[in-house]
Amino acid sequence: MTTIGIVGAGISGLHLGLQLVQAGVPVTIYSPQSGDELAKGRIQNSVAHHAVTIDRERRLGVDHWPVEQYGYDSHHHYFGLPEPIVFRGDFQQRSRAVDYRIYLPTLMADFENRGGRLEVRPVDVADLEALSEHHDLLVAAAGKYSLGEFFGHSPRRDPLPGPLRRLEVGFWTGIAENDPKGVSIAASPGHGDLLEIPMHSFDGHVTALLFENVPGGELERLVDWKVDEDPEGFRSFVLDVLRRHYPLTYARVDESEFGLARPGDQMQGQFTPVLRNDFKQLGNGRYVLAMGDAHSTLDPIVGQGANSASYSAQVVGDTILEDQSFDLRFMEKVALRRRERVEAAWDWSNLMAGPPPQHLLQLVGAMAQDQALLDEFTWNFNFPVAQWDILATPERVAAAIARSQAR
Ligand SMILES: Cc1cc2nc3c(=O)[nH]c(=O)nc-3n(C[C@H](O)[C@H](O)[C@H](O)COP(=O)(O)OP(=O)(O)OC[C@H]3O[C@@H](n4cnc5c(N)ncnc54)[C@H](O)[C@@H]3O)c2cc1C
Repeated sequence: MTTIGIVGAGISGLHLGLQLVQAGVPVTIYSPQSGDELAKGRIQNSVAHHAVTIDRERRLGVDHWPVEQYGYDSHHHYFGLPEPIVFRGDFQQRSRAVDYRIYLPTLMADFENRGGRLEVRPVDVADLEALSEHHDLLVAAAGKYSLGEFFGHSPRRDPLPGPLRRLEVGFWTGIAENDPKGVSIAASPGHGDLLEIPMHSFDGHVTALLFENVPGGELERLVDWKVDEDPEGFRSFVLDVLRRHYPLTYARVDESEFGLARPGDQMQGQFTPVLRNDFKQLGNGRYVLAMGDAHSTLDPIVGQGANSASYSAQVVGDTILEDQSFDLRFMEKVALRRRERVEAAWDWSNLMAGPPPQHLLQLVGAMAQDQALLDEFTWNFNFPVAQWDILATPERVAAAIARSQAR
């Protein structure tokens, strides 16, 4: 019987593993950490899932956090221009953010309880050939660092010279929720953006503050601060940044309650977005397939990486269930099927994280006046292909604005 090996127990590895055990296919997931270890670690991200991903979770039987209780409805936009622009886009169905230190261990337990095999061990490039002999197909879903280099940069997109943003994220208490409950997307032109996300964590509701800082700008201090050495100074600096750059979030802060929810609830870093080759052939003639961040690493400015990783897992799962000849044709089928969405998410994320072109600013101006266009943009967080259909060129943006005005 076909057996599948998956390296990595992130969202993409787990969604694929769960789909396959649901279909009765034997699967082993290799993870360097157990669920308990993962739960005790530092945060690595602040992930929101959109409705299309939540639908997939329902189909996989892992929707443990119903959107009626844990979800949110809106994107609250703020542009810190001399005359600030403020507007709100609404989703047609709710999105939801759950701390991955809760989400991933829960799905790891689901996977094991349903007959999947979880082996706690890291896998290096040197292990791949031996491991490929144990399985009919080996899928690398080990995130943006491990194994990624192995696949090499895809010729389908030019490499980026470096990170588009430098990131600092923390889970905070003492910030009242937006009304209606939603994510704030606030721009401080020239300095960066703040994504404020209502998140379910260990002690219930917290607010994730993801500072997307422009390299070379004054807000880089958020990324370079040695937080463990000076937590109180850091807290004061975050408050100062909110006050000066992101006043609508600051207005909802209760300073007496404001603090990191737990000591490990903070991380800093940067990485260069990269689109890698879909697969690679090993010396023994077998192929390894890249999936999730190992294939496509995105700046999180529009929250697409995990949603894209989950989509990619479904394409891989569906293709495995249809065709168990894991040869070059199989690899090319997967690559072709997921390409449009994965690349649209890549292009859109890079556009939003880079210096804003004139046509993006035009769209922002139009959305501030046109609720239908704004709601379409908001709902398209579920549909990166449709979003890129609007954003890909100045002509497309102009056409989308004209279309919306004519409606
Ligand atoms: C600050 C921040 C905020 C984000 N916000 C969003 C958001 O709102 N929405 C969104 O969609 N995306 C978001 N993302 C992106 C999202 O976190 C990733 O795209 C997603 O987690 C990728 O999933 P994955 O399964 O490919 O990899 P990961 O989630 O990175 O999982 C990889 C797994 O592989 C394991 N692993 C690593 N090395 C090895 C090895 N050698 N052997 C075996 N296993 C290994 C790791 O332990 C891990 O469990 C955000 C990212 C960041 C940094």
